[in-house]
Amino acid sequence: MTGPIAVEPGGTLGVLGGGQLGRMFVHAAQRLGYRCSVLDPDADSPAGRVAESHIRADYLDDAGLTRLADETTAITTEFENVPAQALRRLASRRPVAPAGDAVAICQDRALEKAHFAACGVPCAPYHVIDSEAALAAAPDALLPGILKTSRLGYDGKGQRGVRDRAALVQAWRDLRSVPCVLEQRLALACEISVVLARAVDGRQVHFAPLQNTHREGILALTQWPAPDVAPSLQAQAVDAAMAIAASMRYVGVLCVEFFVLADGRLCVNEMAPRPHNSGHCTIDASDCSQFELQVRTLAGLPLATPRAHSAAAMLNLLGDLWLVADSSVREPPWREVLALPGVHLHLYGKRAARGGRKMGHLTVTAATPEQALQTTREAARRLALAWPLAVTA
Ligand code: ATP
Ligand code: MG
Repeated sequence: MTGPIAVEPGGTLGVLGGGQLGRMFVHAAQRLGYRCSVLDPDADSPAGRVAESHIRADYLDDAGLTRLADETTAITTEFENVPAQALRRLASRRPVAPAGDAVAICQDRALEKAHFAACGVPCAPYHVIDSEAALAAAPDALLPGILKTSRLGYDGKGQRGVRDRAALVQAWRDLRSVPCVLEQRLALACEISVVLARAVDGRQVHFAPLQNTHREGILALTQWPAPDVAPSLQAQAVDAAMAIAASMRYVGVLCVEFFVLADGRLCVNEMAPRPHNSGHCTIDASDCSQFELQVRTLAGLPLATPRAHSAAAMLNLLGDLWLVADSSVREPPWREVLALPGVHLHLYGKRAARGGRKMGHLTVTAATPEQALQTTREAARRLALAWPLAVTA
C-alpha cells in the first residue's frame, strides 16, 4: 500500500526479523506506546522475546505473513536479507517501509553499485563476476582486490582478499561460483557512516557521520563525532547519502557506509536499509535514536531533527568475550565496566555465545570525544578486549 502512513501511538507495528536491531526497534516503539509483532523463525530471538507477539514462521511462509499483516497496521524490516518478496507480499495488505524494491537494491552489491553510479557517487572500481567469461575478463587493474558475494554477505562473511589472478580464480571457486563483485583494494584513511531517516513526504533528517574501526571485517569501535574527518568531507558524505536515499524514494532509516581514502577522497562502500550497528550510540548520545526515527518513519510521525547531546564511543561485544581459553564460558565482568562513568551496557539476550557473534554493545557517553574514548579504552581493558585503535588516546 502506498500513500501517507499514520499509526498513532497505541497501535501495533510489525517487524520482519527478530535480531538485535529488531529488539532495539521494539524497545523504541514500546516507549512511544506501540505494541509490536515480530516475525522470525527462531523460537528464541532477541526481538521476539520482547515483542507483544512473536510469530514463529519462515519469512516466506504465507500463514505467517498473513498473521503479521492481520495483527499490525504498518510493517518494517530489521535486516536486508529478508526476502524482498516477503515485503512485496505484505505491501499488498499494509504500508511497508522500506519498500521491497529499495531493499532489493541493498541486497545485491551489483545493483547497489549501479545505483551509486546513477546518483553520481563514486565507489571502489569493480567488476561483476557472474560467469566464467566474466571471471576471465576481470581487469588486472583491480588486483590486489576483494572478492565479495553479491548477496547475503555481512560482517565480512562471503569475502576473500585476492592478490593475483590465480587467487581470484580459486576464491571464486571457494565461494561456489555464485555471483560476486571484485573490488579494488583501496588504501583507507578511515571509514565513516551516515545514518538518515526519510519520510513518505521526502523530508529527511540525519545524524552527523560516525567513524568506524573494523577488526577482521567486523565493526569493533564507533566514535561520534568522527574525530579524523574534516567538516567539509563530512558534509559531502551527508549530501551523498541523502541523494542516494532520495533517488530510491526511500522511506525509513538508511545507513550509507563510506571510505575516506588515504588521498583524502570520499568513496561510498555499501548501504543498509535499516538502522546500523554504527548508529547504536544514538540511543544514549542523541535526543532521538536511529530506532526511534525508524518508528517515526514507519508510523508517519513527525521527523524532528535529532540533536547529539554527548560525545560517544561504542564498542561491540562479540561472543569471543564469553569464551575462555579452556573452551568454557564465562559472564564478562560487567560490574567493573559499569563502575566507569557514562557507560551504557546493551545486551541482546542471546543465549549462546559464539566467536564473532554480536552479543551486545557498550556505549560510553561523555562531555568530550577524548573523554569518551579514554573511558571506552579503560572499559576495553577491564574486559580484556584488544583495543582496536592502533594510535591510542
Ligand atoms: P557489514 O555488513 O558488517 O558492514 P560486509 O560484510 O557487508 O560488512 P563490507 O562493508 O563490504 O562487508 O566490508 C567490510 C570491511 O572490509 C569494510 O568496512 C572495510 O574495512 C573493508 N573493505 C571492504 N571493501 C574494501 C575495499 N575495497 N578496500 C579496502 N577495504 C575494504
Ligand atoms: Mg559494511
